[in-house]
Amino acid sequence: MSLTPESLPVFIQEMTDAIEKNADEVTSLDQEIGDGDHVFNLRRGLSALNDQSAELAQLDWLSAWQKIGMILMSTVGGASGSLYGTLFIAMSKSAAGKSPLNLKKFAEIFSQGVDAVKKRGKAEAGEKTLLDVLIPVANYLCDMDQDAMTSASFHTLSLVALQAMESTRNMIATKGRAAYLGERSRGHIDAGARTCQLMICAILEILSNDLKSVQISPAQ
Ligand code: ADP
Ligand code: MG
Repeated sequence: MSLTPESLPVFIQEMTDAIEKNADEVTSLDQEIGDGDHVFNLRRGLSALNDQSAELAQLDWLSAWQKIGMILMSTVGGASGSLYGTLFIAMSKSAAGKSPLNLKKFAEIFSQGVDAVKKRGKAEAGEKTLLDVLIPVANYLCDMDQDAMTSASFHTLSLVALQAMESTRNMIATKGRAAYLGERSRGHIDAGARTCQLMICAILEILSNDLKSVQISPAQ
C-alpha cells in the first residue's frame, strides 16, 4: 500500500475532528499561560485546508506541502501560523530531488522542516512549545528502520508524542507569550504542544488502524 497525497483529505478531516473534540481543553490551556486564541487560530487554518483538500489530493507531496504551508501561513495567524507554515514550506523544499519517497527520506524531510521551525521560532527543545513534540517525533522517525513501518511502530510513535506533550507541564516557558510568566508557567501543559500532539496522533491512528505496512510515495 502506498501513501500518496490522496490521503490528505482524510488526514485533514481527522486532525480537525481531534482539535474540535479537545477544543475546550486546549482553549483553557492557552488561557492559563497564553491569550486563549490558539484553537481559533488553528480552526482558520484547518478550515482553509478542508476547503482545498480535493485540490491538495491531486498534487505530488512536494507541491502539496508547499501549498499547505502557504495556506497555513496566510490563514492561521498567531505564532503558530508562521511556525506551521514554515514547517511545511521547508518540508517541500527539502523534498526536491527525493522522489520516490520512502520512510528514511520522509524522516529527513520532516527533520529539516522541524529545523526550520526552530530557526523561525528561535527556539530549541525544552522551551515549552510545540517544538517539544515535533523534535522527539522527528528523532523517532529518523531512528526507525524502513522495515519497522508497521501499525505497532505508529502506535509507539503516538506514545512518544503523548509523553513529549506531557513533558511540557514541568517546563518553564522561555519562548512565546507564556515566557512572560516565567516560573509561573510551570505546572501547565503548553497549548501548542497539545494541539501538535493531537494532530500527529490523529494521523498515526489512521495509519496504525488502516495499514499494516506503508510506503510513502508521490501521487502517480
Ligand atoms: P500566539 O502565541 O501568537 O497567540 P497561538 O496561540 O496560535 O499564537 O500559538 C501559541 C503556541 O505557539 C504556543 O503554545 C507554543 O507552542 C507556540 N510558540 C509560540 N512561540 C513560539 C516560538 N518562538 N517557537 C516555537 N513555538 C512557539
Ligand atoms: Mg495564543
